[in-house]
Amino acid sequence: MNHLLSIEDLDRAAIERICDRAAAFEEIGERDIKKVPALRGRTVLNLFYEASTRTRSSFELAAKRLSADVVNFVASGSSVDKGESLKDTVLTLSAHRPDAIVIRCPWAGGPALLPQWTDAAIVNAGDGKHEHPTQALLDVYTLRRRLGSLDGAKVWIIGDILHSRVARSGIQAFRKMGAEVTLAGPPTLLPREAESLGVEVRTTLDDLREADVVYALRMQHERMEQAFVPSLREYAAVYQVNARRLGPRQLLMHPGPVNRGVELSGDVVDSPQSLILEQVAAGVVVRMAVLYEVLAASRSEDPITEPQPA
Ligand code: ASP
Repeated sequence: MNHLLSIEDLDRAAIERICDRAAAFEEIGERDIKKVPALRGRTVLNLFYEASTRTRSSFELAAKRLSADVVNFVASGSSVDKGESLKDTVLTLSAHRPDAIVIRCPWAGGPALLPQWTDAAIVNAGDGKHEHPTQALLDVYTLRRRLGSLDGAKVWIIGDILHSRVARSGIQAFRKMGAEVTLAGPPTLLPREAESLGVEVRTTLDDLREADVVYALRMQHERMEQAFVPSLREYAAVYQVNARRLGPRQLLMHPGPVNRGVELSGDVVDSPQSLILEQVAAGVVVRMAVLYEVLAASRSEDPITEPQPA
């Protein structure tokens, strides 16, 4: 695998391979010195044009745990503010010879443009409302750990599906792993092509108890040009996942950041059913596996035990 641009490019075997490798990397995080030399001498450039807490910190930790050098480039405060284009920014930063560029940007399809300007491996860390493939991989990983397998699991994704890159990647990844996916939300926030995605669609949470996994999404205000719901209060009244709607055997997920009191009530966020912090923790090992996959998997060494050339 040279790049990770979309879940579309991965089949079930590739998703399983990444999850298996992530599982093998878990043990590194338990050590006093949380590092292996797998990517020693490699440079990973994090190029972030949009806000990020979890994704950027976990890509940085992932690269460091594999001994890569990391450069963090945040667009605000850079020459991007002076009008430098994506192409010129990538050409400029490529002069530093990064081996991988992890990019988050507001432009759907932006990461797919980069291979024409740089030899670095490209990892999509979220492009507009298009895709967020590493989020989907860490979600699959988290569920696989809990459920053993996603085959036959009923996953409901709830909320602002229309503007959500998490949903677009998650739907594909969950289905490839054998889950049955249902999308639920106000009709204005469901994509028109929903039925062609091989999912069920609901506009109420009346049957939410059918779900094994309840995956709630944040309202993506930054991608809305008009009001899609009358008010957040009215949205919450009908679509909030709260203790009244969430059954005791159901697992709760959310990609973060959570708007407490809107898509989720505070009590369910903090309940034992919530996998939200497990998702964050999984982000590090899964991103280690992705960086390893695009930079080193073609070499046959065991990443944990074999010394790498200096
Ligand atoms: N953190 C996720 C993303 O970047 C979800 C969100 O922002 O709501 O898409």
